[in-house]
Amino acid sequence: MKICVYPGSFDPVTNGHLDIIDRAAKLCDKLIVAVLINSNKNPAFSLEERVGLLERVLKDRENVVVESFSGLLIDFVKKKNACSIVKGLRAVSDFEFELQMALLNKNLDPEVETLFMMTNINYFFLSSSAVKELAKNNGNIEGLVPECIREDIISRFMKK
Ligand code: ADP
Repeated sequence: MKICVYPGSFDPVTNGHLDIIDRAAKLCDKLIVAVLINSNKNPAFSLEERVGLLERVLKDRENVVVESFSGLLIDFVKKKNACSIVKGLRAVSDFEFELQMALLNKNLDPEVETLFMMTNINYFFLSSSAVKELAKNNGNIEGLVPECIREDIISRFMKK
């Protein structure tokens, strides 16, 4: 069984993430969307919330599961018997960091490949940070996040 891991913060999941998920899911038997438990960042949504939003969005995708991980990505990938890591690339600015990470992971385990997918042209400008900034300032996030979680995102920032 070919298993791939798509890691990220997903704070919150956007249509840019969803596009990568749907494309990557076609290339493998099982795609694990791996939510990073990152104590360095200060996420707007807790780990449970980020996982919960993803689970709601992905509930009908049969070969996609949501999990969380801490520590080294490569250790999680090996534990899950996955053969590759999926990453989305937007701008050239993503490239340098992702190249370094891919080479580092290759050095840690030569068996694991990193697959890069170019962003869908419609989501080139889209990031979780952009969604949060819009939501905080009453901007329109329609079409940027999955419809079934749009209200959750808006209400989170309205409270503050
Ligand atoms: P963000 O950069 O939006 O805060 P994450 O850390 O959750 O997102 O990113 C997880 C993965 O999704 C990364 O590989 C990132 O490059 C990719 N990604 C995020 N947004 C997009 C997008 N709009 N198009 C393609 N890939 C994306």
